[in-house]
Amino acid sequence: PGIQLPYDTEKKTIVILGSGWGATSLLKTIDTAEYNVVIISPKNYFLFTPLLPSVALGTLSAKAILQPTRYVARHKARTVTVIEAEAKEVDPFNKTVTFEDDTEIKGDVSHTTIPYDYLVYAVGAEVQTFGIPGVQEKACFMKELVDAEVMQRRFKDCIESAAFPGQDAAEIDRLLHIFVVGGGPTGIEVSGEIHDFLEDDLKAWYPELAGRIRISLVEALPSVLPMFSKQLIDYTESTFKESKIDILTKTMVKEVKDRSVVLQMPDKSIQEVPCGMVVWAGGNKGRKITQDLMAKYSSIQTNRRGLTVDDHLRMAGPDGSIFAIGDCTSTSYAPTAQVASQQGAYLARVFAQMAKKESLETKLNQLQQSVDLEGCNGNCQLDGSLAYIGSDKAIADLPFANGNIASAGVATYLFWRSAYLSTLFSLRNRTLVANDWLITKDLRPDSPLIL
Ligand code: FAD
Ligand code: NAD
Repeated sequence: PGIQLPYDTEKKTIVILGSGWGATSLLKTIDTAEYNVVIISPKNYFLFTPLLPSVALGTLSAKAILQPTRYVARHKARTVTVIEAEAKEVDPFNKTVTFEDDTEIKGDVSHTTIPYDYLVYAVGAEVQTFGIPGVQEKACFMKELVDAEVMQRRFKDCIESAAFPGQDAAEIDRLLHIFVVGGGPTGIEVSGEIHDFLEDDLKAWYPELAGRIRISLVEALPSVLPMFSKQLIDYTESTFKESKIDILTKTMVKEVKDRSVVLQMPDKSIQEVPCGMVVWAGGNKGRKITQDLMAKYSSIQTNRRGLTVDDHLRMAGPDGSIFAIGDCTSTSYAPTAQVASQQGAYLARVFAQMAKKESLETKLNQLQQSVDLEGCNGNCQLDGSLAYIGSDKAIADLPFANGNIASAGVATYLFWRSAYLSTLFSLRNRTLVANDWLITKDLRPDSPLIL
């Protein structure tokens, strides 16, 4: 009963968990002629994360940065089964995955288990809150589409509440003080986008409030953006200073309250600062399902950053049937979209090579020793780091033959735009993003957030 999985008993089954950067890149590249492919993810779409902060501030529409996974699947040679469900457990000993429909509307069947021959584990990571009181319940995040929607709603609410007749000055200042926690690329990009919104929209729509908004970026370490070169860190800090974004380094958020944030200052004193909204960008941690899987190989899987994999992206521990890519792994690379997507494309080549071998099922163990695969861990080509910092400026650390080249400013921003346009997956997405940018950034007929 129900939808049949595309099982051809002559072929091996690859189950892919996730529909993010790693999984989508694999799905796009893999030759499905030789495998049954099943993709399971609680989101039935791919989310283009670099442009998520633009959705939060209303410069881009959500649909411009989403690509339905079925759209990618439908272009494959053989049927790919797409299942919207959350994997709950991987049993590497019996080679099964148990998954569940976690959405609001469920049918009679909403929980099942299927077998795999190969599992591609690409579930990404979740937001790290360090158990700091109030963060989970009271802060906004910038990880999933729903986070951008929540932030947009709250931000709009802060502004409208500040504009409410009779609001006293101190309360207006509280409502319009926005804290962004985390000086990594996410926190920097969110701060830059909020600043743009102030400059481009708030001045036109709420001239009486525009000058009163404050953005404070809190970072526990001595500087923001530790992965960028010193030159670019200085450039970002001075651009933020000009944009009147306060950077509080060596400062830790200790608690998020309904109407304030509690900070531990560089001299270790504690200060409670009233604010309207806190955006949390404090980094990533492994999902529970990843921790559970690691616990099954507790003597080998000891890296708290994520799954340990070998040079061919096979998870250390199981018999070579589980491959892991992207943010759920701990490799020598930063957890970025470019690494995850290169790993996905690499795995597609691995599967293609494996498919060429005869008697795969019976000879699996010898085969994994003998297949001549180029390693990936040592070979990911980094395209460099790019980040938008607001005011139509971006920073980029780009690798060249003689080392990295640091670039910053408006030209870098134009490069940033074109880089993102060219890496968006479908023509449909490219057109939607270009259209939104043209309307909201360049023609700007009205406020993208307020109207
Ligand atoms: P993800 O893309 O997060 O995908 C994980 C997938 O797994 C999702 O589809 C999720 O729904 C699914 N999933 C979750 N739980 C389960 C489960 N239990 N079962 C099945 N599926 C599950 N990187 C860059 O290189 N450049 C950038 O400019 C950049 N900008 C960013 C901006 C923001 C706001 C954010 C949040 C990240 C940004 N990144 C950027 C980082 C980049 O998005 C990640 O490194 C990348 O998404 C990792 O890809 P992934 O496939 O490992 O995970
Ligand atoms: P991150 O881990 O890079 O930065 C989080 C920051 O929050 C850290 O610097 C940490 O010190 C700080 N922090 C944590 N708890 C704190 C507290 N209580 N008080 C004050 N500061 C606190 O996280 P991210 O920015 O979300 O990035 C995650 C990954 O995604 C990175 O690998 C990054 O490279 C990638 N990413 C890349 C881009 C880009 O290339 N443009 C954009 C976004 C994310």
